[in-house]
Amino acid sequence: MTSTPLPDTPAAPAAPASTIEPAPRASSPLDTAHSQLASAVSVLGYDEGQHQMLATPRREIHVAVPLRRDDGETVLFHGFRVQHNITRGPGKGGLRYAPGVDIDEVRALAMWMTWKCAIVDLPYGGAKGGVAIDPRDYSTAELERVTRRYTSEIMPMIGPDTDIMAPDMGTDEHTMAWVMDTYSVNRGYTIPAVVTGKPLALGGSRGRGTATSAGIVHVTAAALREAGVPLSDVTVAVQGFGKVGSHAAAIFASRGATVVAVSDQYGGVRNDAGLAMDRLYSHVAATGSVVGFDGGDPLSNDELLALDVDVLVPAAVEGVLDGTTAATVRARWVVEGANGPTTTDGDRVLAAQGVTVVPDVLANAGGVVVSYFEWVQANQTYWWSEPEIADRLEHRMTSAFGDVSTLATREGLSLRDAALVIGVQRTAEAHRIRGLYP
Ligand code: NAD
Repeated sequence: MTSTPLPDTPAAPAAPASTIEPAPRASSPLDTAHSQLASAVSVLGYDEGQHQMLATPRREIHVAVPLRRDDGETVLFHGFRVQHNITRGPGKGGLRYAPGVDIDEVRALAMWMTWKCAIVDLPYGGAKGGVAIDPRDYSTAELERVTRRYTSEIMPMIGPDTDIMAPDMGTDEHTMAWVMDTYSVNRGYTIPAVVTGKPLALGGSRGRGTATSAGIVHVTAAALREAGVPLSDVTVAVQGFGKVGSHAAAIFASRGATVVAVSDQYGGVRNDAGLAMDRLYSHVAATGSVVGFDGGDPLSNDELLALDVDVLVPAAVEGVLDGTTAATVRARWVVEGANGPTTTDGDRVLAAQGVTVVPDVLANAGGVVVSYFEWVQANQTYWWSEPEIADRLEHRMTSAFGDVSTLATREGLSLRDAALVIGVQRTAEAHRIRGLYP
C-alpha cells in the first residue's frame, strides 16, 4: 500500500495541542483511546458519522474457554477477539493473557493497532485478542489446552487474509506455535501466515523477538537527534522487564546509553553507574525477577517513574502515568514501550511539564513492522537475512518518526496528536476511497 499524503491543510483549522478541547477524565484504556481519537478527529474536522465509523469496532467475539486442569477439575475463562478496523487490510494484533483482560481493554488495544499499522504504513487493520487468565498460575500443558480451545472458538474470525495474531503480554512464540498448529490442523494443511512471532523453526522471522525493543531505541535516537543529544549521553529507566522492556534495556546499553534502573511487577533495581545487563539477564533467568539483583539497589515502580533520568520507558502495563504519577516524572523524554501507559490526565501533566512523549502507536510499532515482514516472508516462503530485516525496520521506524515529527512541528501538535492524526487520516482516507457498502 502506498502512503496516503498527509493533509496539507486539515479540513478544519489545525489547533495547537494546547487548544484541543480538554477530554473528560480518562479512567480506563478505552477512555484513553476514545479521548485520543476525539482529539485527532477534532484536528481533522471530521463529522460525527465519520467519528463513529472510526470509534466503533467492525467485529467482536466473546468466547467461553473451558479448561480441564491437570488435576481433572474444570475451570472456565473468558476470551475475546476484536477487529477494530479492517479497511486497509486484514486485522493485525496481539493475543494477551492477563487476569484483568476484558472486552473494553481489548477494544482499546485493537483501536491502537489500527492507528499503529497506518502510522508505519502497513497494509493491515487493527485487531486484538485476550483471555482473562493469569498464565503464571497454570502449567505449560494447561496453557496449551487454553490456547488451542481459544483458537478453535475464534477460528471463523482469524486467518492469514483476515486476522493475524502475534504475542503480547503473557504469551510468547510457543503460544503462537499452538495457535498456528490448531488452525492448520483444522484447515488440513500448514498455514504459517495465520500468526506472527512464531519460532524460527516454524517460519518465524529473524529479529522478531527483539523488534519492538529495537524500534523503541530507533525512535528514541531519532527524538534525541532532533534535540542534538547523542544516545550515548543519556540515562534511561525502563519499567517492565518482559519481552519488550528487557530487550529495550539491553539494546539501549549496547548503543552506549546508561540504563540506570529497571523494574517488573515485583519491584525494581537501580544503579546510577549503569546496570550490568549480562549479569542482570542471568539473575532474571535464575529467579524470574529483577528483584534481588546484587548489581544495584532496590527501588519501587513509583520511584522508578520519578527518577531523574533523561529517558523514561514505560514498557509494562496501561495507565501507569496518570495525573498523579506523571507529576513526579523528571525525565525529559517518555518513550512509550507499553500500549496506553499514559492516561489523558497524565498526558496533560507531562505536556505542561515540557516532557516530550513519543507515543505508543509510534514507539512500539517495531513489533508489528517485523510481524509484517514475517507475514510477507511466510506468504512468499522466502526468508530474509537478519541485516536485511534490521535495516528495513530502522528505515520504517525512522521514517515514521520523521512523518510524525514534521506534522507535529508544522501544525503545533504534540507527537501523540500528530501520530494519531496520521493514523486516523490514513484509515479514514481508505474508508473514503473504498466507499460505503451498499
Ligand atoms: P510481558 O508479559 O513479556 O512483560 C510484561 C512485563 O511487565 C513483565 O516484566 C511484568 O513483570 C511487568 N509488569 C506487569 N505488571 C506490572 C506492573 N503493575 N508494574 C510494573 N511492571 C509490571 O509483556 P510484553 O510483551 O513485554 O508487553 C509489555 C507491553 O508492551 C504491553 O503493554 C504490550 O501490549 C506492549 N507491546 C508488546 C509488544 C510485543 O511485541 N511483545 C509489541 C507492542 C507493544
